[in-house]
Amino acid sequence: MPLKIVRNDITKMKVDAIVNAANESLLGGGGVDGAIHRAAGDKLLAECRTLGGCKTGKAKITGGYHLPAKYVIHTVGPVYRDGTHGERTLLESCYRESLALAKKHRCESVAFPLISSGVYGYPKDQALKVAIDVIGDFLLENEMTVYIVIFDKAAYKIGEKLFTDIAEYIDDKYVDELTDDSYKRISINALTSMAPHKKQKKSDIDSFEICDCKAIFYEDDLDTKLRQIDESFSQMLLRKIDEKGMTDAECYKKANIDRKLFSKIRSDVNYKPSKQTALAFAISLELSLDETEDMLRKAGFALSHSNKFDIIIEYFISKGNYNIFEINEALFAFDQSLLGA
Ligand code: ADP
Repeated sequence: MPLKIVRNDITKMKVDAIVNAANESLLGGGGVDGAIHRAAGDKLLAECRTLGGCKTGKAKITGGYHLPAKYVIHTVGPVYRDGTHGERTLLESCYRESLALAKKHRCESVAFPLISSGVYGYPKDQALKVAIDVIGDFLLENEMTVYIVIFDKAAYKIGEKLFTDIAEYIDDKYVDELTDDSYKRISINALTSMAPHKKQKKSDIDSFEICDCKAIFYEDDLDTKLRQIDESFSQMLLRKIDEKGMTDAECYKKANIDRKLFSKIRSDVNYKPSKQTALAFAISLELSLDETEDMLRKAGFALSHSNKFDIIIEYFISKGNYNIFEINEALFAFDQSLLGA
């Protein structure tokens, strides 16, 4: 079911269907089209000749012949002019029509190249955004594993502003880490001097000079915390799903997690997920940073400022952006492993 961004040659993908960025004639061309025809062999061209071409934004299906994939779905992306000629709508249609065809042929896994982003000139970051948006929507309603195959990492980048923002955030946090020790010392002193007034209320905090506010707020719901201390990751996950009024399916789909993995977690109270899986659920449940830390602890992990992966996740949570596909896009741009299954 999940969406994965991978770096590969699409002709090597062992999936039920690969998608070809074709032209309207369907009779072969350069780029990914040429690579697919070369790898599939002459019979692919012979079948394509029988199809009578394909309109921009539409898709047609053939066999995969010598390819590891059973099918090739041929779709025709728009030529990018300046973005004001319906390019986005047509590109969205390519993904939607291809996914519908894959579903009709009961494909469980499909791999897409970045349609239109080569000779047809669609800016790569925008082309990737369109792909992620449409595939993401589709996966909220359907069970399928979808790959976006990026061929040339060098030419790939996420939106420049997002990239710069995240890069700056990473820099800031690395600096924070260096000064963290002195901060902690002050906090501990502050807490020690507070010990006799353990039941202090939030209103008292204002007059407290240097305080670790986080620790004091924790005290307010200490009872709740104690009750939850023995709660396992799986129990916390199910409790949070209930509290957020989500269904299981909504949660695992938004987390980009496979249904089978979710069932495993659900049925094993002591299941220990990977850090990526635990974080994927935290994102899906739209947890705050504190809640995310809580959930991670249940799985034996913590967020740290000494690795980029954690800081990028923290960046998105602090911005209130819980779109797992956008987060994965950024993780990919920074060469980090992705969230979800
Ligand atoms: P279009 O005409 O739709 O722009 P292209 O084939 O020129 O199609 O390029 C589409 C995308 O496919 C580009 O991002 C290009 O880098 C990528 N690409 C080219 N060859 C391959 C391949 N073998 N596997 C995956 N992607 C590829």
